[in-house]
Amino acid sequence: MDNIEYVSTRGHAARLNAADAIARGLAPDGGLYMPTTFPSVDPSTFADCATLAQTAARLIAPFVQGSVLAGSIGQICSDAFNFPTPVVPLDSDQGEVSVLELFHGPTAAFKDVGARFLAACMEIIEAQSSRPLNILVATSGDTGGAVAAAFHGRANVKVDVFYPRGQVSGRQEQQLTCWGGNIRAFCVDGRFDDCQHLVKAVFQDKALMSAHRFSSANSINLGRLLPQMCYYAHASLEAWRRDGKAPSFIVPTGNLGNALACVWARRAGLPIDNIVLATNANQTIPDYLKDGDWQPRGSIATLASAMDVGNPSNMERLRWLHSDIDDLRQQVTAMSVSDELIRAQIVKDFERFDQVWCPHTATALYVYDQLTPEQQAEHHWIAVATAHPAKFEDVVEPLIGREVEVPEPLARILNLPSKSLPVSAQLDDLRSWYA
Ligand SMILES: *Cc1c(COP(=O)(O)O)cnc(C)c1O
Repeated sequence: MDNIEYVSTRGHAARLNAADAIARGLAPDGGLYMPTTFPSVDPSTFADCATLAQTAARLIAPFVQGSVLAGSIGQICSDAFNFPTPVVPLDSDQGEVSVLELFHGPTAAFKDVGARFLAACMEIIEAQSSRPLNILVATSGDTGGAVAAAFHGRANVKVDVFYPRGQVSGRQEQQLTCWGGNIRAFCVDGRFDDCQHLVKAVFQDKALMSAHRFSSANSINLGRLLPQMCYYAHASLEAWRRDGKAPSFIVPTGNLGNALACVWARRAGLPIDNIVLATNANQTIPDYLKDGDWQPRGSIATLASAMDVGNPSNMERLRWLHSDIDDLRQQVTAMSVSDELIRAQIVKDFERFDQVWCPHTATALYVYDQLTPEQQAEHHWIAVATAHPAKFEDVVEPLIGREVEVPEPLARILNLPSKSLPVSAQLDDLRSWYA
């Protein structure tokens, strides 16, 4: 097969190899990078892949062929996939249902997977550069922590995180401010939008841009999508070897990065059956699948805050692949879940399974319960658990009436000393930090 190249969804940017597309992030025409072709893997060729890291290296190899990453893909994957993503069966009398736990990484959410892979790639891409790369991240909470954790201690890359003062939870702030070394946390006097504007202002400032090298690490980066295919690959292969049947996934969805990776994995030949998207009250995607009319809108604040997205950017990638609405309807279905139903599901499953979900994960379990008994019986359903409930203790603990135990990696972070740099939302105040 020829090397896979990457083209912009908007069609007006040069084709790049994987390393160059990852280094760039957004295509110069404002579009998102998509592979020109997908490999067609045969599930039986993964028979010798015992670990997630081995499955990942096998799956991603063709996607990075012909780039500077090709020779190091084994090393990148064992670096990035250094924590487990187990499939845990639930003791249900309603059909076979399991949970894919993606929260065993350093900041206890699935974004650790993408951030760690991206960081490992960037370190290799930057190995030859004479000046360090400054990665700027505006965050409303979760992404910044995963990126900071993933890049901490890596050579030739520095990360500056910008978060809004007083608008992230105490535990989130600690995950942004505990690192030191090559990571700086700027506490911005403003809102999340001001943080985003500040980062954009840096990218538009000629003096700063000529004196330094800047890049971003946001969720549309190809380097975050490719690794997210791998836990779907590993989980589906495991089920397929055991049952001889492809499992179906229910994915809590905001910006659609996680679910899109599941669609890519299926397209690459992995044994994946249905893909169902669970959104919170932000129902742009369910409405689109229903009406065929793409109507992005402002976001609504919900309990599943990491999914508060009214204009999911990765939809541009999914629509590029499936521009016909009826075709798209064959690929995915979607359902919106209100805050009230999220709360009820957390209580219900605590009683039923003795399991505690974060509010995002609860949307997927709610959607499972809405399937017909025939649908439940026909498939092995895997609901995706995107974060550990201890990250959202303020929502979860009052509902279940007890404390949620903090997992070990998160506990370690919560005990580190923290430091943040207060700045105004004005670019001129920030300038001195790049002197
Ligand atoms: C980011 C996030 C999501 C949404 O994932 P997308 O890729 O944006 O769809 C869901 N749950 C948690 C805990 C998250 O951090």
